[in-house]
Amino acid sequence: MRSRKRVKSIINKKHLLIISLVVILIVLGVLGYFFLLKNKLNLKGYNSKITINYKTDFKKANFTACYGNAFDCKNVKIKILNKIDTSKLGKQIINYELEYNGKKEKITQEIEVVDNEKPEIKIDSATVCPNNKINEVKFTVTDNFDGDITNKAKVEYKDKKIIITVTDSNKNTAEKSIDPKIEDKDGPVIELKGNSTISLRLNDSFQDEGATATDKCDGEVKVSVEGNVNTSVAGGYTLTYKAKDSSGNESKAERIVNVYDVNNGDRVVYLTFDDGPSAENTGRLLDVLKKYDVKATFFVTGNGPDELIKREFDEGHSVALHTNSHVYSYVYSSVENYFDDLNAISNRVERITGQKPTMIRFPGGSSNLVSADYDGGIHIMSILTEEVEKRGYQYYDWNVSSGDAGGTYTSDGVYNNVISTLKEGSSIVLQHDIKDFSVDAVERIIQYGQANGYTFEKLTPASPKAHHGVNN
Ligand SMILES: [Zn+2]
Repeated sequence: MRSRKRVKSIINKKHLLIISLVVILIVLGVLGYFFLLKNKLNLKGYNSKITINYKTDFKKANFTACYGNAFDCKNVKIKILNKIDTSKLGKQIINYELEYNGKKEKITQEIEVVDNEKPEIKIDSATVCPNNKINEVKFTVTDNFDGDITNKAKVEYKDKKIIITVTDSNKNTAEKSIDPKIEDKDGPVIELKGNSTISLRLNDSFQDEGATATDKCDGEVKVSVEGNVNTSVAGGYTLTYKAKDSSGNESKAERIVNVYDVNNGDRVVYLTFDDGPSAENTGRLLDVLKKYDVKATFFVTGNGPDELIKREFDEGHSVALHTNSHVYSYVYSSVENYFDDLNAISNRVERITGQKPTMIRFPGGSSNLVSADYDGGIHIMSILTEEVEKRGYQYYDWNVSSGDAGGTYTSDGVYNNVISTLKEGSSIVLQHDIKDFSVDAVERIIQYGQANGYTFEKLTPASPKAHHGVNN
């Protein structure tokens, strides 16, 4: 009994072994077929999510594909179906089309465009003051994403090094350091309060406004003043301002104060502006006049905003009358029309300023010939020049023309016309504050005048009138 049982069990074990081997062979065969022999699509290097750097070219798939088995696999063409914009940060989806074995298959990939490039710091030079304050660091920072971010950088002086750190808007940080020179070569910068050239009349009061000085190493430093101004004696005076820093660098600045004896035949310039006010130009002209404390004369018309006439008056200029309409064919067609028009502008000025002006300027000046075209042969200028005086007005012409009413169309031209024809005595300058290029020239005319012994005055009823002489 015992031995038979044993034989049976040996047989059973043998069977089991054979069956197992057969199963293993079948499994291996099937696997071998699937892994080695069956034709299928193989992707190499494919990832469903990838990142790429900002602005890198993306024209080709970053993986390859073939179709076939382990022994023979043919390359598969990969076509990108949509455009990828690598100048935009963030996630985008790419769709690919793979063509193989007579069919087309789509696969997708998620691409994240990131900026992981650090900004680039370029240091040209660095100096530190003897007192360990940073003196000057010349450097630039450029970033692939943000562009020039020099002003975002932090500059420190630590452990005897100048350290520049900067972070771009995508949180990439760069750092660079340099051994600085210890150096202080620059003196303080002196800034005068008020103008550097001042024109005064005899016995005007003068109070020096002083100056401030700042030094890169020492901050604010003291300024000393040498020289004085005696306004009771005509002449040119120089005030000299000096400031020294702790390294011994000294700076100087000067202010010229000219005291003129106006009553003694000195040069006086009367700036006059016709045809305004002009919403575009008169305000900024008034700003310039205020900056140099120059008073001028405005021969106004019916144009422009009331508040500019108000400003002219409030800021101490002379507001005088030109014409309300400035239409030659109307104002010079009869004496009655002329005075109707004059009353209209007079009423406007009186309404705005509370005062009735007595100073006038004829459109085209007293010498104009254009009036003869409209007056029906009555020689209207001969009548008007007498009649206005009878009615209590004074009329003013000019003896310096800026040319801005014709022939000159640039600020340089106006400037040159005016300064080249200024008189030794009184200059009544004709300009138009409706012309922007003419207004542009005023600051330079004042600077030239103040530097060359001219005093600027507004016209008053007692001023010279520069009458041209009547031609009609
Ligand atoms: Zn005019």
